[in-house]
Order: sequence, then C-alpha cells, then structure tokens
Amino acid sequence: MTSPLPPGSVIGILGGGQLGRMTALAAANLGYQAYVYCLNKDDPAAQVCARSIVGQYDDEDALRSFAAMCDVITLEFENIPTETLQFLENIISVRPHHKVLAVTQSRLEEKGFAKESGFETASYQAVRSISDLRQATKEIGCPSILKTNRFGYDGKGQVRIEEDTDLVEAWESLQTDEAILEGFVEFDKEVSIIVARSSIGEIKMFPVTENIHVNHVLSESIVPTTVAPEVLSEVEKKLVKLVEKMDLNGLLAIEFFVSKSGTFLVNEMAPRPHNSGHWTMDGCMTSQFEQLVRAVCGLPLGSTKALGKVKMKNILGPDDKNWEAYIKDAHAKLHLYGKSDSKPGRKMGHVTYLELDQ
Ligand code: AMP
Repeated sequence: MTSPLPPGSVIGILGGGQLGRMTALAAANLGYQAYVYCLNKDDPAAQVCARSIVGQYDDEDALRSFAAMCDVITLEFENIPTETLQFLENIISVRPHHKVLAVTQSRLEEKGFAKESGFETASYQAVRSISDLRQATKEIGCPSILKTNRFGYDGKGQVRIEEDTDLVEAWESLQTDEAILEGFVEFDKEVSIIVARSSIGEIKMFPVTENIHVNHVLSESIVPTTVAPEVLSEVEKKLVKLVEKMDLNGLLAIEFFVSKSGTFLVNEMAPRPHNSGHWTMDGCMTSQFEQLVRAVCGLPLGSTKALGKVKMKNILGPDDKNWEAYIKDAHAKLHLYGKSDSKPGRKMGHVTYLELDQ
C-alpha cells in the first residue's frame, strides 16, 4: 500500500474554473498547497492558488515545469486532451488517469461503459452522416435528441428532432462528424450521485441529489430526494462495479434520468467535482472538493452524511448583481467565483439554503 501524501504536499490542478477554485480552497483547509495550470492568469482558481502556470494544454515545456512543482496532479475540467494527461503521466501521478477521460469525453463510450456495468441508458445510436441520421431516426423514433459526441455541455451541441424536423439542417447545425441520437426520456426526475474512489481503492458515495434544469442548465439541486432503498442499493452496487472497472482515482459524477417506474438511466458522467455537488460545501460532513483532495492524496475518505435538508441554487449572470440580497438573507450561504465578466447565463456563484437536522 502506498503511503498518503502528507499535508504540505502540492496538488496540481489542471483547469482554472470555479471547480478548481473550490478544490484549491479545500486543499488549503487540510494544509495542502494547490497550484493551478490554467489558460488565463486571473482565472477563478488562479486567484486563490499559491502559484499558477498559464499555458495551453499542448505546451510541453509549461506542462513539464508544472509537473516538476507538484506531488500529484488532478483536474477540474474533463475536456483536457488525453494526450496532455499521457504526457504528464510519464512524469508524475495524474489522478484520474487519461483512460477515465477517454471514456467520459465521449457520450458513445460512456453509455457503452455504463451498459457494461449493468446500467440502462436512453436508446441511442452513433450518427456519422446524414444517412446514419435518417436510419437512426427511423429506429429510435421521435422525439429524440441529436447531440455532438464530444465537447457538449449545458445543452450546447444538441438539437431536438421531431417528426417535421429538417434532418439535413439539424445535422449541419451541429458542425461535427460524430454525433449520437438519443431517444427522448419522459423522466420523472433527474438525479445525480457523486462517487469518490481513493488511490488506495476506498469508495464512498454522496447522497442522491435531485437536479432541476432550466434551459438545459442546472438551476437547483435538492437533498434529500426519495429513492426506494432497494433501488438505491442496486444502483450503488453497479456504481462500485463501474468505478472499479474504470480504475477511477478521484471523483466521478453520474447524472441519471429516473423513469416513472423508478429505473435509473445513466445520462452523463464527469470525472471531477460537479455542480450538483456544490451543496456538500455547507450541507455535508465532507464537501466534494475535500473528498477529491482526500482521494488523490490517498487519505481516508470523509463521511458523506448530509447535515439536513439542503437546496443549492446557481447564480447565473446577471443575478450576481443581487449579491447584497443574498448576503442579507440569514438562511443563505453565498459563494461567488470571482469572475469579473458577468454574462447572461454564465455561472457566477451559488447559494445554499440549509435546514439542519435537529
Ligand atoms: P446533457 O447535456 O446530455 O446533460 O443534457 C442537458 C439536459 O437536457 C438534461 O439534463 C435533460 O434535462 C435534457 N436531456 C438531455 N438528453 C435527454 C434525453 N435523452 N431525454 C430527455 N431529456 C434530455
């Protein structure tokens, strides 16, 4: 068994967004130093890290100097090229490793992986041409959703296909050579589970979180949500199998559709902290960010017990202008990400409302 990385060690974070910022703050709380590799010197994570290196993901000199400063490297953004991780893996431990990213960067790969672990998904087919799309639409039916296989997020790179949709226009609008057509799921609710697996193989899961999306973007996350205990125990067993098969080291957030009959269908996976886990910062014994630090440093994983009823609400630009109202609210815990440019719909912060258990 490898010994844990002790406090004082340096955790390198690839990506400078708010997820990196909150990971760096959690690392500091445990006495670690966080250094960030990011694209801009004033990125949210760079503002709170002891050191930051500004570089592109193919800049081998900058990556090499970054690796030389760190004891372990993790990431806050899953669309980093797998080649970047492979390059770093020759120098230093990268957690999670590039094979996890290779699965989660592709909707086709991740659905296949979920199925091999015993999960159901929406019906789907790969689409690489307009004739594929015509064929897939016949087989899957309408409504359905055509999505780019890679690099889609928050509903971007998606088009809904109805009986009267012009398929040529839909295919061309995605500007891609690889897409997926998914059957539309008439779900009862959307939920997510964040799983941590440490470098010594310990696994812990956060409570199931119910997620409400507006315009394809997460608006609110709520805990607890009702899931029949026998359903949850089956889902948890499959998740253990899935993260072991992936050889995950770090966090994996899995988003599910829950059908009217209670079946969990895997929608998406992300190998990093997730927006639907922000409530854990104020509403859980251990936050998802601290859990990531523990997992990549080989520390025992923390308790994932929720402290009460919790609601997390995203603050999207220009709602951050209302910060004074949130600050004045005795029931609200405000987190702002230090972004100077408040564009409509941009994630600027979040607020947690907590009703503690007695
Ligand atoms: P995604 O980027 O795949 O997470 O999609 C963003 C949101 O669009 C999801 O959280 C759902 O609310 C909705 N959505 C995506 N795919 C489907 C589907 N196959 N059936 C129903 N709703 C979907």
